[in-house]
Amino acid sequence: MNSSISKTKTNFIEWLSCERSAFYSFNAYPGKDLPYPDQAQKNQAYKVEEESTKLFPGIKKSHDFDFEINQSAPITVYQPTIKVEGNLEVRGDIIKKDIDSKIHIFEVKSSTKPKKEYIPDIAFQVFLLKKNNINIETCNLILLNGEFVRKGNINPKKLFQILDVSDQVKDYLKEDSEINRYIKEIESKTILERNISSTKCKKCPYIVSCLAGISSQILSIPRGGKKIQKLVDRGINNLIDIPEDVKLTENQQKYADVQISNKYQINKSVIKEVLSSLEFPITFLDYETIYPAIPKYDGTYPYQQVPFQFSIHILKDDGNLIYDEYLHLEKSNPMPNLLKHLSTVVGYEGSVISWNDIFEKSINNTMSGMYPDYKILLDSINERMFDLSIIFKNDYLHPKFMGSYSLKNVMPVFYDKLQYSDLSISEGGTASYKWMDMIFGNLDIKENEKIKRDLLEYSKLDTEGMVEIYKSLINLVN
Ligand code: SF4
Repeated sequence: MNSSISKTKTNFIEWLSCERSAFYSFNAYPGKDLPYPDQAQKNQAYKVEEESTKLFPGIKKSHDFDFEINQSAPITVYQPTIKVEGNLEVRGDIIKKDIDSKIHIFEVKSSTKPKKEYIPDIAFQVFLLKKNNINIETCNLILLNGEFVRKGNINPKKLFQILDVSDQVKDYLKEDSEINRYIKEIESKTILERNISSTKCKKCPYIVSCLAGISSQILSIPRGGKKIQKLVDRGINNLIDIPEDVKLTENQQKYADVQISNKYQINKSVIKEVLSSLEFPITFLDYETIYPAIPKYDGTYPYQQVPFQFSIHILKDDGNLIYDEYLHLEKSNPMPNLLKHLSTVVGYEGSVISWNDIFEKSINNTMSGMYPDYKILLDSINERMFDLSIIFKNDYLHPKFMGSYSLKNVMPVFYDKLQYSDLSISEGGTASYKWMDMIFGNLDIKENEKIKRDLLEYSKLDTEGMVEIYKSLINLVN
C-alpha cells in the first residue's frame, strides 16, 4: 500500500488512458522522466498556461487555496492546490470567485479544439471541490483560438477562446464511477489493464518493463492498435501464429508475409517507371520547422509550421552532386531569409524529391500565401515535387523496415555510413525544440555551438539519405 502517495488528477487522467502506466507512475517506477522532446512540449504547455492568466486582471498565484476561497472578497487564483482526505490532490489551473461568491473553474489546454478527454480532467477537480463543500457555478475550458493571427503584441482575449463545458462535466459526474474506481483501485488492483497502442506505447517511459518479452514483430503491426492488444492478451507472440479469426488488413497481411518469409518484395517495373519519369537536375529537399503554440512572428497562427532550416542536395544528369543548406540563427522570423536563400539554390527545372511530400508542400503553400514575391517559385517546386516514400508504401517492402516507411526505418537498408542513432539530434521534434532553445533560451556559446552543429548534421543526413536511396533504387531496377 502506498497510503502516503497522493492520487492526483494527472495520475487519474493517465489511468483513463492506460491503467498500467498510471500504476507505474503512482508507484514511482524507474523511467518516470519524460524524454527531451516530450518534456519540451510540456514546457510549451506551461507557457500557454502562463499566458492565459493575462485574461484575468488581478489574478494571483495561489498559496493557500482553502484560505483564499473562504474569504468574502472576490478573487481569482492560478495553480490552486485542492486537497481532500484520503490523499486526494489536484492542482487546478484557474479558479475565480465572483463578487456574488459564485465559483468558476477554468482549465487551460494548449489545443485549438475541445477534446472529449478534457472533461474528466475538470470533473476530477469538481469532484474534489464538492468533497470540500465547494459548489461550482461553471466549468470552462480555455483553448487557443486557431483563427488568431499575430500582429504585434498579443492580445490574450484574441489568442484564447473560452468554452463553457458545465453540462458535459455534470453529465460525466452523474456516473462518476471512473473517478471512484480509480480512487479504489490504483493502490490495490493486482491485474492492471494494458492499453496497447503503437503510438502511445512508443512514447511510454515504462515500455521496457511493460512489454518485455513481446516480440517487436507483433508490436510493429502497422496500424495494429486494438488488434495488437488482442494478440498479446491471447499470448500470441509470433506473426505466424496469428489465428484465422484475427483478420489482418491488406497492408498488415503484406507486412506479415514479408516478416515471416524474411525476404524483401520489390515491384521493379513500377519503380523503374516512376523513377524514369523524374527529370534532372533532381533536387532533394527537406525542411525543419518549429510549430509554437503561441505564435512567435507576425502573420503566423498557433501551431503554424515555420521553417527555420533547409537542406538541399542537387543531383545533375552528369552525376555531379551539389549540397546547400540554410539555418536561421537570429530571433527574427526565419522565413524571409530562408526564402531568399532558397531562391538562389532551387531553379525552375527538374524534379524535387521529398520524403512525405504533404509536409513540404503545405509549408510551401503557407509561405506562398505569406510572401507573394516567392509564390511562383514555391508553386513551381510543389508542382515538380515527388514523394520518394511512396515507393516504400507499396512497391518495396523489406523485413528491416518493420512495416514502416519512415526515412529512419528505410535508410539503414541502403546507407550504412551514418545513421540517425549516431547523431545527438535524430528526429524532427527534438530539432524543433533544440532550435528554440538555441535562439530563445539563455544557453552559453558552447551549448549553442553544439546545437548548431547537431542541427546541420541532422538535416543534411535527411537529404543525403534520400540521395543514397534514390541511387540504390536506380541500380536495383536497371
Ligand atoms: S507501454 Fe503501453 S501498455 Fe504498457 S504501460 Fe506504457 S502505455 Fe500502457
